[in-house]
Amino acid sequence: MKDKIRFVDYCTSTADGSVRFDCCTCFSYNRDTMDVTKNSSEYRKLPSVDELLRTEQIRQLLPRYPRSLVVEAIRDALRKARERIAKGLPAADRDTIIQFVNGFLTEKSKMSLRPAINATGIIIHTGLGRAVLSKRAIDALFAIAAGHSLLEIDPVTGRRSSRQKHVENLLTELTGAESALVVNNNAGAVMLVVNSLAFEKEVVISRGQLVEIGGSFRMPDIIRQAGGRLVEVGTTNRTRITDYEQAINQNTGLILRCHPSNFKIIGFVEETPLEDLVRLGRNFGVAVVDDVGSGLLVDVARFGLEHEPTVQESIRTGADLVTFSGDKLLGAGQAGIIAGREDLLRICRNNPLARALRIDKLSLAVLESTLRIYREGDPIAEIPVLAAISRPLAEIERQARNLARAINRQHIHDIQARVIKVRSEIGGGALPGQELESFGVALKSDRFDAEDISEHFRGYEPPIFGRILRDTFVLDMRTVAPHEARQILGCVQTLQP
Ligand SMILES: *Cc1c(COP(=O)(O)O)cnc(C)c1O
Repeated sequence: MKDKIRFVDYCTSTADGSVRFDCCTCFSYNRDTMDVTKNSSEYRKLPSVDELLRTEQIRQLLPRYPRSLVVEAIRDALRKARERIAKGLPAADRDTIIQFVNGFLTEKSKMSLRPAINATGIIIHTGLGRAVLSKRAIDALFAIAAGHSLLEIDPVTGRRSSRQKHVENLLTELTGAESALVVNNNAGAVMLVVNSLAFEKEVVISRGQLVEIGGSFRMPDIIRQAGGRLVEVGTTNRTRITDYEQAINQNTGLILRCHPSNFKIIGFVEETPLEDLVRLGRNFGVAVVDDVGSGLLVDVARFGLEHEPTVQESIRTGADLVTFSGDKLLGAGQAGIIAGREDLLRICRNNPLARALRIDKLSLAVLESTLRIYREGDPIAEIPVLAAISRPLAEIERQARNLARAINRQHIHDIQARVIKVRSEIGGGALPGQELESFGVALKSDRFDAEDISEHFRGYEPPIFGRILRDTFVLDMRTVAPHEARQILGCVQTLQP
């Protein structure tokens, strides 16, 4: 579609009615009209691989890149040059071919996992790396990555100790739980709990909570894979305490509650409150596990959001174990946290699966430093996830206006930047259906459609991700830092029709 538009644009712009083809995409529509025979001499003008390898410019590349990669780059450049000839273009000169070679090598040596700009308005975006870390966490990460550390050693006795020690007390203090255990991620935490407490036993869960959470976490699959026997109770929209009660027998391993963290059922809905499940569990001697997902430690009601259960509330209500992620609303790195009863956690710790799901030292450094902010710092100001949620609307609007003005001042083709009201989401399976008012910059143009603009932004360095709303490309400013706004301006400037 895009090629066709460009082709038409090009043709109508030629004054004498003849068609010039120096754009390869245009040409593909008119290949038949070309005289192919006269191109054969063009192929002969291309240098050979060996000739190119002997040039000064290519020889300069050899200390920087493996020879095999340089040869691959030359072959790729020559292939491109031949393709251009096949399309009726003259043979590329040597400098152009060497430019291709350089482009290929630059592209190949770029990091694949590299920074990007999130202008989607989704604060915890799994595709874009979930939580951005605090300054404190980054410092801790650097320090631990750069050298040896006290990961599993006690400096007082000189003896081996547990990596869990670094966060255990912080977690019990912050959540009110008796004990805590940290693993690789929350999917791992749920798996470890089910495997430790309900292997070949029944796991009772409401039909309304058999959820799938982004990144292929499917509750029924996790339970089965962990060796639990899934017992669904109630219905999709209503599950009562009696449904649970009837399901409990001597084979019951645990009652699992899962926070339906990325969707919301509205209307005729009833889920059994945690306190009722706790009472039932105590009567029958069955553990109640609450997978809260997002790991919220502060009340978000003060930011105009609906109440979302915090980990502390779940512990206070009496859940035997609570599981949650480190890199969602908690604002740390990837981790899965299990907080609750020491006797149950001891079983989890002794499970060989705990070793397989062990948290890495870098995530641990990030987690400890982030938890310290909750205890000793100012989480709303210091933790980027919470700062993004609580960011004043006036500040977001100001940033949107500044960027729109800067874009319009540049007169880039027919691009018109306009400030519009948008709604940001929390994302990451937290606070589903709840949105925050925000401001975005919408890019309007007759020459570029929204898909073209979006593709251009994704291809920029750093790649920039926005949203398409009603056929318009929009950049939500809530998750964009001021220095990133400057990069967005740079990206608009490089738009080519
Ligand atoms: C996100 C989520 C998970 C999975 O957590 P990861 O840290 O991504 O493994 C599990 N349960 C719930 C309720 C979640 O929201």
